[in-house]
Formats: sequence, structure tokens, C-alpha cells
Amino acid sequence: MERIYLDNAATTRLDAEVIEAMLPYMHEIYGNPSAVHAFGRKARAGIEQSRRKVASLLNCAPGEIVFTSCGTEADNMAVFGSVRDLGVKHVITSPIEHHAVEHVAHELERTGDAEVHWVKLMPDGKVDLADLERLLKAHDHALVSLMHANNEIGTRNDLMAIGKLCRMYNALFHTDTVQTMGHYRFDLEQLPIDFLTCSAHKFHGPKGVGFLYMRNGAVVKPFIVGGAQERNMRAGTENIIGIVALAKAMEVAYRDLDEHHKHVQALKDRMREKVLAAIPGTTINGDPSADSLYTVLNFHFPDDGKAEMLIYNMDIEGIACSGGSACSSGSNKGSHVIEALYPGRTGANLRFSFSKFNTQAEVDRAVEVLQRVMVPEPVKA
Ligand code: PLP
Repeated sequence: MERIYLDNAATTRLDAEVIEAMLPYMHEIYGNPSAVHAFGRKARAGIEQSRRKVASLLNCAPGEIVFTSCGTEADNMAVFGSVRDLGVKHVITSPIEHHAVEHVAHELERTGDAEVHWVKLMPDGKVDLADLERLLKAHDHALVSLMHANNEIGTRNDLMAIGKLCRMYNALFHTDTVQTMGHYRFDLEQLPIDFLTCSAHKFHGPKGVGFLYMRNGAVVKPFIVGGAQERNMRAGTENIIGIVALAKAMEVAYRDLDEHHKHVQALKDRMREKVLAAIPGTTINGDPSADSLYTVLNFHFPDDGKAEMLIYNMDIEGIACSGGSACSSGSNKGSHVIEALYPGRTGANLRFSFSKFNTQAEVDRAVEVLQRVMVPEPVKA
């Protein structure tokens, strides 16, 4: 059986061009980038070239990029760091952030290091901008941490509108762009953003590497202390192979962005139309409009008694999808995102997420299987 991977919001397959870019750093270029000799200088050059590549794609300064071990670390650094180092006493965030932000907010509440304010959401999961303004007016010099696109339902916030409000009320703005980096363009000279986070494995780079963008003037202190790596921002010998791969994955993603966007959007549209027509009572979780993240499609199916077995049954038939975020895929544990937007609702939620490697034939087969699993054939007498 050919298995079909439709869980690209959890992670993506490595791109062949990325693997090629990594290879020299697994063989010849193995010096410690902190060493002064030629081996070290060559490795250092790989890191700094990667930093410049990332910065030029985002229209920011190379010094504003700090490579990290993942998106989670970058999110933690921005939110904890703003409270610890930048005098932030109020954090404004939403109940549907990824756990990498949401759990940090709960930790700040627990320790009392900052007061956390949970912004209201619109029914599709977008931030209620009027409520955000109300909170910003009431709390000076807050940190606003709101994601660009939600990893479970794909609803996308307007970063320009949120950023402008933050500037108006003297707040710092952190946005988790883990699901949108490599899928949308960002011009950081235009966007009023102070912190932005990235994880390479969401756009065909390797797992275990990401970065934090910190606007000059909003610089937090390191969390990992020791050597002077990452311009004194993060100690520890750098993950050179990962860093080079991240930059290459970004270069490839932005080079092919328009084509990739068109292809993946068509897969999502096809699946949405087919499933809505095939399975009565199906609705879309989150924002059903074309403004939503084009890689993510999340369905709600009314309870038919088989709902909780859905992911397992799909997997048995060779289709990989998810019930929510990566940490809950496989366990189909209740999602905090779905619960926040649709409290108490029964039924099953299923996320399909697409990449440039998926095909229309794969979508058709997934729909066929879903239909079979959801609507069993009548038993013959
Ligand atoms: N933020 C969002 C929106 C995500 O989807 C993820 C990964 O699922 C993360 C943060 C965490 O990234 P990483 O897996 O690199 O820690």
C-alpha cells in the first residue's frame, strides 16, 4: 500500500536541494565555527552566509536573526525574555496559541512574573481587534504575542493591523510565524513586528533548528549561557548542518513560492469541495475563506459514534492526517484550540495539511477512504 502523507502542518519531508546543501557540512566542513583556523573559519562562513540569506529574504539586518534549536525555543525566548529583560508586566495573548506560547503564558501567570490577558476571538478564530485595543489601552508597555496562522485550523491574523495597534499603544509585538514562514512573504522593514519565530521543519528543512528575529532595540538576554556563540545571544556550538539547511529551505521556498501556493491551494480547495459534498453535516473549523492558511484544512464531522477512531482508521487505510497539533496527533486528545472556539461541541475534528509533494490523485484517494470510514457501506442481507 502506498501511504499518503497529509500531515504537513506537523512536519514536512526534506527537500532534495536541502539535503544536497547539508552534505558538505556532514563531510568536509566540520570545523568548530568558534575556532580561528581555516577549518573553523569555513564553518563560521557557512553560518554567517545563512544568516545573511535569511535576513535578505525577510528584509531585516543579519544581526537581528538568532538561530535556535526549534520554534518552541524561539517562542519561549521572546515571551519569557520580554518579561525578564524588557520590563514587560502585561502579556496579551490568545487561548488558541501553540503550546510553545500558551504554556509560557500560563507559567508567567503561575509565577506572577507578569499578568496575562486573554484577548477575545471572533467565531473563526481571528483576533477581535476591538478587544485587543481595549486591552492595550488599559495596559501600557505590554507584550502582545499572537500567532500569524493557527497550526490546527489555519485561521490567519492580520499582522499589519495588530502591529499598528501595538505601536499606537507602546506595546511590543511577538508573532509565531512557524506555520507561515516559507509560505508567505514577510517584509520586516514594513511590518511593525518586534519578535518573529521560525522552525525549519515546517517548510522542508530539518527538525531541530529555527530562529528568532529580534528587532534592534528589542533584544532579550540569552537563556543558554556559556560561550559567545550566536553573537553572545545563545551559547553552545552551533548546529551548522541545520542552520545551513534552514537557509537553503527558505531560499527554495521563496524562490518557488507562487507556484507552490497555487498548487497547494488547489489541493485544499479540491479536498474541501469533495468532502463537503460527500459527507453530510460536515463543516470547516476556523476561517472557511480563501484568506486562511492554504496548507491547512480542518473538518468537523457530526458525531456518528465512530468519531474518535477516525485517525486510526484513516491510518490503517494508509492516510496520515491529524486530530490537531503534532503533540496530539495519534492520541486524538481534545484540542485546546477547538475547545476554545467550539466549547462543548461533540463530533470529530480532522486536520489535513498539504505540501508541494502532494498530488490531486492523493487528495482523491484520501476523500474516498474518508467517505468509506465515515459512512459505512450498508450490510447486505
Ligand atoms: N508554533 C507553531 C504554530 C507550531 O505549529 C509549532 C510546531 O508544531 C511550533 C510553534 C513549535 O515548533 P518546533 O516543533 O520547532 O518546536
